[in-house]
Amino acid sequence: ERARFQAMATELELQSYAQELEETNRRLEDANQMKDRFLSIASHELKTPVTTIRGQAQLMLRRISRHKDLEHMDGVATTLERINDQTGRLTTLIDELLDVSSIRTGKAALNRRLCNVTALCREVVEDQRLLTERMVLLDAPPEPVTLKLDVDRFSQVMTNLVSNAIKYSPDDTPVEVSIKPGARCVLFSVRDHGRGIAKDQQERVFETFYRTPDAQTSSKRGLGLGLAITKDIVERHNGRIWCESELKKGSTFYVELPVSPSP
Ligand code: ADP
Repeated sequence: ERARFQAMATELELQSYAQELEETNRRLEDANQMKDRFLSIASHELKTPVTTIRGQAQLMLRRISRHKDLEHMDGVATTLERINDQTGRLTTLIDELLDVSSIRTGKAALNRRLCNVTALCREVVEDQRLLTERMVLLDAPPEPVTLKLDVDRFSQVMTNLVSNAIKYSPDDTPVEVSIKPGARCVLFSVRDHGRGIAKDQQERVFETFYRTPDAQTSSKRGLGLGLAITKDIVERHNGRIWCESELKKGSTFYVELPVSPSP
């Protein structure tokens, strides 16, 4: 009789635990959805005024450069340049937040078409060279390599990897990009000779909002979203991304994309 009573009590206890767990899960889900909605609304609302401010600053800069008599307004031009640069940075951050919010809500669709990835990588390398005045080298086979992919998204992948390599390595070291086509996959790599990433952080850098402790304390700014977005884009192309790195020696990020896009 006693054993039966105990069994009943345990069952009742378990039932109440299960109910509690269900309730906690539901609340967590609600909070998560609210956070995603907030992320999406806040970034959309921020985007319009920032774009407007940037556009106005650029317009003023163009006007000033056209009128010789406005040359005495030298200080104004410098101020406008700074507004342009800083709002440019803000735009990049807002775009990252918008990308993350569309990843979370599963809204990001791909627009695939056949593309010469050698030319695309050359363009990314050239843009980053001009922007940062760093040595960025490209090692690719002479014949074009073509893949069916979302051109804008893939360009974002390569830009993120190359700009990180530049950001986290000393100014006097090169960044090396390579393309190696295979029978079933194409392997892209971006190598730097920078600070490197510790073993236990090499997977974590692909998590949203994750930054290594030394990046957090350095002057290199960022939200820790670029690699999470990059990983999402690569995986939606049925590809893989990973990194190999040694502290104080440098890092290499690899992206492998299948030649045939089917999963
Ligand atoms: P962000 O650069 O904005 O912080 P990312 O998602 O691009 O965000 O990168 C996440 C973190 O991974 C960075 O904060 C940095 O700690 C680390 N990281 C990324 N690329 C490199 C690299 N090439 N060398 C060393 N650390 C890197």
